[in-house]
Amino acid sequence: MGQLLKGGEFIVKEDDYKSMFIPEEWTEEQLMIRDMVKDFCLQEIHGLGIERAALMDAEKDRELIIGLLEKSAELGLCGLSIDEEYGGMDLDFNTGLLFGEAIALGFSFATTIGAQTSIGSLPIVFYGTPEQKQKYLPGVASAKLKASYCLTEPTAGSDANSGKTRAVLSEDGTYYTLNGQKMWITNGGFADIFIVFAKINDDDKLSAFIVEKNFGGIELGKEEKKLGIKGSSTVQVFFSDCKVPAENLLSERGAGFKIALNILNTGRIKLAAGSIGGCKFALGRAVSYANERKQFDQPISNFGAMKYKIGEMVTKAFATESAIYRTGANIDKKTDELIASGMDKSEAKLTAVREYAVECAILKVYGSEALDYAVDEALQIHGGMGYAVETGVEMGYRDARITRIYEGTNEINRLLSVAELTKRAIQTKEIDLITPGKKIPAYIFGQMLPFKSKAGLDEESNIVQNIKAAFLLISGAAGNKLKKKMVDEQEIVMNLADILAEAYIAESLLMRIKKLNEKDGYDKEAMEVQTKLLKLHLYEALAKVRKAGQDAIGGYATGFEKKMMNYFLKVLTPRYDVNSKELRRAVADYAIKKNDYPFIA
Ligand SMILES: Cc1cc2nc3c(=O)[nH]c(=O)nc-3n(C[C@H](O)[C@H](O)[C@H](O)COP(=O)(O)OP(=O)(O)OC[C@H]3O[C@@H](n4cnc5c(N)ncnc54)[C@H](O)[C@@H]3O)c2cc1C
Repeated sequence: MGQLLKGGEFIVKEDDYKSMFIPEEWTEEQLMIRDMVKDFCLQEIHGLGIERAALMDAEKDRELIIGLLEKSAELGLCGLSIDEEYGGMDLDFNTGLLFGEAIALGFSFATTIGAQTSIGSLPIVFYGTPEQKQKYLPGVASAKLKASYCLTEPTAGSDANSGKTRAVLSEDGTYYTLNGQKMWITNGGFADIFIVFAKINDDDKLSAFIVEKNFGGIELGKEEKKLGIKGSSTVQVFFSDCKVPAENLLSERGAGFKIALNILNTGRIKLAAGSIGGCKFALGRAVSYANERKQFDQPISNFGAMKYKIGEMVTKAFATESAIYRTGANIDKKTDELIASGMDKSEAKLTAVREYAVECAILKVYGSEALDYAVDEALQIHGGMGYAVETGVEMGYRDARITRIYEGTNEINRLLSVAELTKRAIQTKEIDLITPGKKIPAYIFGQMLPFKSKAGLDEESNIVQNIKAAFLLISGAAGNKLKKKMVDEQEIVMNLADILAEAYIAESLLMRIKKLNEKDGYDKEAMEVQTKLLKLHLYEALAKVRKAGQDAIGGYATGFEKKMMNYFLKVLTPRYDVNSKELRRAVADYAIKKNDYPFIA
């Protein structure tokens, strides 16, 4: 088995595709869990009728939503990440992601159960004392306790550490008095427990508390009227002299920001998995409608303009999921490694997710943007019917929009992916970007190859290596020139983030195809289509890298340097001679034939 790469290290090393996890390797048990989640959504939510589900309203349908949470808990779905001793299933991380993909079928309920099982309870799972776990986690797993996460404030959104909520410790040290205001709190309308981030006394750093509704001193705002996910509760929460027992502090004083960020890391990759579930669902609806709907005496799926959209949707979903589950499995492997080295299980899980923070940020952005494309074009394929509530497609369009905003906006996540990688290169020196970076000009002149492909698909392997080289070259040159001023040049950092993301997604897709190529008895037709999908994806990735690279270079270089850098970029992103139209059609035709997302559904 190949050595497990560190988080972010993919940019300078070639990973071993043979030891990469691919979704074709889900076990029977994992697929059973996925199917149970899907069946739950189909029965309990789609079963209401799509129009009814689309019109679900957090205020009017509160009892229905609470009932859904409780029913899902009866199936064990609220305790997937909770230890068995506290009534949960303690599933591995990647199965948790598969759950996230499947629950996307639950529309806005996915947000409700997401807050219950992720941000609203993982702070206790990861940071709680045994007493706190014993007191709260069985209730969360059974949904007797509904959970929420209170970080955002009216003046503290992306800048979450600037919150004004205060917790003053009593003189005898037995309780805190909490005052402040939180907003956009998912599940807030009916939550029994709130994970609240606040500063103790005059601290600069946040701390985190488990706050029970029945501590008193808590007022709720009205349900927010939102663009989408209308069936999920979102309210403001006001704390006025709310008395919180001292033992309800999570971890230690001042650890709140660390807790918030670590929980968001897990949330980001889960959101990506949910987004891909949404992509596949939107695609399935779009393809079946395109096959049914006739205009000009033929199904609209016959038209190239429709095939374009279908081919793109399939490609984005397949490519992105390759990277999501590769990362999820790496998080599990890292967790096992850390436990074997003697680390406590909760600490190991957290450390493993933190290790892959660069990848989690990339996936959040890539997944949510793939979803936005899919819901937009699914609506377009439905024409006027897409605009009608009864099809449910307009709901998908509205619901998807939030994914680019919460769990850190996509701007923040783009900045973060590059900042985190840079930190590992410069501050903590975990990853050497400099030595491979220095080799790039020589590589470009064909004198030496810093990366060597370990397996076939040579042209495609070279493209992936070239994208990595483009990132190293431009980030290195821009960093040298701008130094600390780089953080003020966000446009350039965003360009770099896009190149970094293309490198990770393209490599993950390539590795999956290489592995599938060697899989005994693998479906030949699917393999043929997936190889075309790979070529199409790389063709498009190269174009994006070329554009982002030119933008970045133009943003900091002038004169000879600009000319030289653009020349290097041109060499690294050459014309990839494929017929993108035919590739996209082949992918689309396969989905049209299957009348659904054509691969692992
Ligand atoms: C439906 C919904 C549910 C939510 N659920 C929860 C929840 O359960 N708990 C919770 O705590 N929060 C929740 N949130 C809050 C959510 O996490 C925030 O809305 C999000 O983090 C963005 O903060 P903001 O809205 O204050 O936007 P701002 O931070 O004001 O951002 C506005 C714009 O400025 C950009 N921007 C901000 N800072 C920078 C920067 N440094 N560089 C470049 N661009 C920047 C942003 O990218 C964005 O485009 C929810 C929000 C919604 C809408």
